[in-house]
Amino acid sequence: MPPITPQPGIMEIDLYVGGKSSIAGRAEVLKLSSNENPLGPPPAAQEAMIAAAARAHLYPSTDHAALRQAIGEVHGLDPDRIICGVGSDEVLQFVTQAFAGAGDEIIHTEHGFSLYPVLIHMAGATPVCVPEKDRVVDVDAILAAVTERTRIVLLTNPGNPTGTKLDDAELARLIETLPQDIILVLDGAYTEYAAGYDGGAAHVHDRPNLLMARTFSKIYGLGGLRIGWGYGPREMIEVMTRIRQPFNLSGLQLEAAEAAVRDRAWVRDCAALNTAQRARLTGALRQLGLACDDSETNFVLARFATPDEAEQAHQALLDEGIIVRQVAGYGFPEGLRITVGDADQTGRVIDTLTRWRETQDG
Ligand SMILES: *Cc1c(COP(=O)(O)O)cnc(C)c1O
Repeated sequence: MPPITPQPGIMEIDLYVGGKSSIAGRAEVLKLSSNENPLGPPPAAQEAMIAAAARAHLYPSTDHAALRQAIGEVHGLDPDRIICGVGSDEVLQFVTQAFAGAGDEIIHTEHGFSLYPVLIHMAGATPVCVPEKDRVVDVDAILAAVTERTRIVLLTNPGNPTGTKLDDAELARLIETLPQDIILVLDGAYTEYAAGYDGGAAHVHDRPNLLMARTFSKIYGLGGLRIGWGYGPREMIEVMTRIRQPFNLSGLQLEAAEAAVRDRAWVRDCAALNTAQRARLTGALRQLGLACDDSETNFVLARFATPDEAEQAHQALLDEGIIVRQVAGYGFPEGLRITVGDADQTGRVIDTLTRWRETQDG
């Protein structure tokens, strides 16, 4: 009998490792490892879910019309060019699966999202990883990596775990220069935290090869619910819709997301809180002699002198019940990625690291 063998690429997949969420022997922890919203889910979304629960026996909408309409209204986009997925992760899966396969290459950058290689191998395609320059995406490195086999470029902007944003002129240059038969995916999970940035939406309007991916997991505080969306050319969305399961999103997801996206005051308040606490955390880390770039996201990447020092600080935080993200897997063994919490939570991080520094020096 012939052996049972998986499709090409499947065995290349290293399982995605998420942020830690518990500490052995501790009931109460402060989780700052997954860039979740410290204010939780918006009350309007919670009410929508409770109302939707009574209708759980009914199959949900397959065309997501109401949610696409709401997103379109709020962001000034054509609802017919929007596709909704189980987190933006699923939208990224649609594009890689629909447009690349065995023998094709997909470019991503050195410090890009660690899910990308998983999705690329799932499609049977080959990942091509290009370097960044001082923790910022390097447009020339991307362009230099393009071959006749390149189908897609996956770009996290602003970056995770770097927190940096590609300069608008550089983004425009990449869009202008990249051959138009290569899809450029703008993964804008942190768009709402970057002042004045639209996630690249203005570029997507009139380009045949751009896809913007957005999420309800970060500023909307709905990471546990799994909702994301993409905006691209009508033809691209039409292709991706063919591989989308008809009932990929439940009624609870759809109604919560619609309530959340319409609650603009919530988004404004969350962004304002983040901006204030991010500045405070960044300033405090620098005062402690740690290197950190200006962040355009809801986290800060603190860089220590050595991996060993980062490990000691990590342990000091764990001893106080605070979980942050080790990012050696993203190319930063000397770094810790710290989600920006509320004022109280940020204070705890600063106090703990300050005390750790004192004991270290003493
Ligand atoms: C958090 C995050 C996402 C969002 O993923 P969801 O599937 O929408 O939860 C996408 N890209 C990056 C880079 C992220 O950090």
